[in-house]
Amino acid sequence: MKPRCTGHSSQTGEPCKLYPVKGAKVCHKHGGRARQVKAKAQMRLVEQQARELFGKTAPEIVPVDNPLAAYANFAGEVMAWKKLMASLLEDLAAVAVTSEFQGEQIAGAVQLYERAMDRANTVLSSYARLRIDDRLAAISKQQADTVMRAIEAVIALLGADRDQATEARRVAARHLRAD
Ligand SMILES: [Zn+2]
Repeated sequence: MKPRCTGHSSQTGEPCKLYPVKGAKVCHKHGGRARQVKAKAQMRLVEQQARELFGKTAPEIVPVDNPLAAYANFAGEVMAWKKLMASLLEDLAAVAVTSEFQGEQIAGAVQLYERAMDRANTVLSSYARLRIDDRLAAISKQQADTVMRAIEAVIALLGADRDQATEARRVAARHLRAD
């Protein structure tokens, strides 16, 4: 059954029988047309669409095997989002505001931009606290050491002579630096 408005009649106190405004919990008589209610309803609809899309495409869920690298990626995403919000705001600010709708759009973009700034700030400060770059570098140094030990084992196993061993180490080192 379709849900009804959560408001009540002011005369009888009975639950309202009207249908809510799309995405909202109340009908047009119970504040469904108010700006904040409309904004919230809009967000709910977008969220609902996103959930449906998520269910439909059923994206593969991959476990995070390197949380530091994942966090570094995430920080990059957050910064890209902030940049996008900034250019959106710039675009909107460049046009003369001729209608209430445009005014609302700009107010919305300002809010999104501020939120993006806050998020970027949070992410960057925890990034700095974790010294992720240093740790990532330390991890790849460890991995490189492991690979070099493996190379040594292979050199010993194959019974390579001194020149071949030197060449093998040189090639391996060059490939590791390329990463
Ligand atoms: Zn109502």
